[in-house]
Amino acid sequence: MTEHHTNVLILGSGPAGCTAGLYAARAMLAPIMVEGEQAGGQLSTTSDVENYPGFAAPITGPWLMEQMKAQAVAFGMRAMSDNIVSVDLSRRPFCLTGRNATYFCDALVICTGAQTRWTNVAGETAFRNFGVSSCATCDGFFYRQQEVAVIGGGNTAVEEALALSSIAARVTLIHRRDTLRAEAILQERLRRAPNVEIRWNTVVEEIVGSEKPRNVQGLRVRDSVTGVADLIPVDGVFVAIGHKPATELFAGQLRLTPSGYIEIVGRGTQTSVPGVFAAGDVTDEHYRQAVTAAGMGCMAAIDVERWLSGMSDEAAVRVPA
Ligand SMILES: Cc1cc2nc3c(=O)[nH]c(=O)nc-3n(C[C@H](O)[C@H](O)[C@H](O)COP(=O)(O)OP(=O)(O)OC[C@H]3O[C@@H](n4cnc5c(N)ncnc54)[C@H](O)[C@@H]3O)c2cc1C
Repeated sequence: MTEHHTNVLILGSGPAGCTAGLYAARAMLAPIMVEGEQAGGQLSTTSDVENYPGFAAPITGPWLMEQMKAQAVAFGMRAMSDNIVSVDLSRRPFCLTGRNATYFCDALVICTGAQTRWTNVAGETAFRNFGVSSCATCDGFFYRQQEVAVIGGGNTAVEEALALSSIAARVTLIHRRDTLRAEAILQERLRRAPNVEIRWNTVVEEIVGSEKPRNVQGLRVRDSVTGVADLIPVDGVFVAIGHKPATELFAGQLRLTPSGYIEIVGRGTQTSVPGVFAAGDVTDEHYRQAVTAAGMGCMAAIDVERWLSGMSDEAAVRVPA
C-alpha cells in the first residue's frame, strides 16, 4: 500500500479541515488533508448558506467548500480522496491507515465533525433541506413568521425551540414522553415563551408535504397514550435529538467527553495526546457552525506550527554540537 509521510496530517475536509490546511500550508508545513467519505463535510449536503461572513449575495454550501479547498490547495496543501479506518497514536510519527494508503505524520489535526442524529421517520430524508433541518441557527431565518415544529425533549430541542420562538410565528415542540430531559432553567424559559406549545406523549409518524415545489406542509402524529392521530400543519421541522461526533477511531487513544466529543486540554486545540489537535464540530457540542469550525481550524494550525517548532528545538538540544 502507498505510504505518505508528512509534518501535518489533517483528517476531514469540512470548514475546520480546509482552514487548518490553508494555515498549515502558508506556514510551509506541506500538510496533507484526507477528505473522508463526505468530501467538503456537512456543508456539501446543504443548499443556501446565508451566515458565512463575507458574502452578501446567497452562496451554496458545496460552492463554499470548493472555494475553501481550492484556496488551501493553491498554497500547497495536498488533498487525498481517502477514508481513515484505523489510527495508532501510541508513538510518533503517528500512523493512520486509510482504504488507499498509510499515512505517517508528526502532528495530527482531527476535524472529523459530528453528524446529526435523524429520527428516520417517513418523509424526513425526502424533505431534508426542503423544510426539514437540524439547525435553528443555520435555517431558522428561512421560517420567519411561519409555523415550525421541533422534535425532541433534551437540551438541544429546548434550545432550538427557544431560538426559533423569536423568529417564527409559532413553535410546536413535539416530545414522545410526558417530561422534558432538558435542564430546569431551559424548561423555565420555554414555559415563558408565549408562542411555544408542547405536545406531550406525541410520536411523529410522517413528515408530509408537496412535491412541486418540494416543501413541508405538516406532521402526522399520534398521541401515544390515547392513540389518537392528528395532523399538525407546519412549514418547517427541526429535528433535535442530538449529534454523533465522529470519534470511534480514537476511542481508547484520546480522552473523550462523556458525550463522546474529543476533549481539549487547556485553552487551544491540543488533545490529551501531545501532537494531536482537534478542531470543529468533533470537539464542539455548543456552536456547531461553519464559521466556528473554520476558526478552530485556524487555531489548530497555529497550535501545530508552535508545537512542531518546539519539537525541533528539543531535537536541536538533543543533537550534540
Ligand atoms: C444540512 C446542514 C446545513 C447546515 N447549514 C449551515 C449554515 O447555513 N451555516 C453554518 O454556519 N453551519 C451550517 N451547518 C453546520 C456546519 O455544516 C458544520 O458546523 C460544519 O460543517 C462543521 O465543520 P467541521 O469541519 O467541523 O466538520 P464537517 O463539515 O462535519 O466535516 C467532517 C469531515 O470529516 C471527514 N471524516 C469523517 N470521518 C473520517 C475518516 N474516518 N477519515 C477521513 N475523514 C473523515 C468527513 O468526510 C468530512 O469531510 C449545516 C449543517 C448541515 C448538516
